[in-house]
Amino acid sequence: MNMRLGIDIDGTIKNTHEAARSIYNEKLNRNVQSEDITDFYLDQAYGLTPQEGKALWRSLESKIYTVGLPMPHASEVLNDLASQGHQITYITARPGLYKIEKITKHWLQQHGFPYTGENLIMNAQDKAEVAHKLQIDLFFEDAPDHLQNLIRKGIRTVIMDANYNRDFPHKAQRMDDWRQVYDLIDRYR
Ligand SMILES: [Mg+2]
Repeated sequence: MNMRLGIDIDGTIKNTHEAARSIYNEKLNRNVQSEDITDFYLDQAYGLTPQEGKALWRSLESKIYTVGLPMPHASEVLNDLASQGHQITYITARPGLYKIEKITKHWLQQHGFPYTGENLIMNAQDKAEVAHKLQIDLFFEDAPDHLQNLIRKGIRTVIMDANYNRDFPHKAQRMDDWRQVYDLIDRYR
């Protein structure tokens, strides 16, 4: 059976935290290391208030989204799944601004992800609602807030493992390498 897969971008197929860390370090003239960032938000590691953190993120996000590398094997595995007939839809809470959407499409294409021109949903604040609407069979997500909403609303979700979601209290499958996805899909179909 072919499945409809909902794929988050930041922290799921893209190592956005690393991109953000290097851009924050440069901007703030700091040398924060990856292991210093244990929270989903970078604010604490940089000594910023949530308001300062949000403003800084907004001012740098187009740069953060432009640079940064895919998670290992994400592109090759998603291409493989697409060629097997699975439907891939990228579902991101990134703001649906023209500029951000353009950067996002370009990044997907640049790194060879299966992007059809129609399988990208921006500004998905309530990912569970989007997943219901698109009849997603399995969702891949890293952010604790989104995970909680997806699982609470009954969307089958795989947690993309990260240090900031290890204490996530709800039971769900977890993976830390895209090559593990085949076993997970076999389990669900
Ligand atoms: Mg994410």
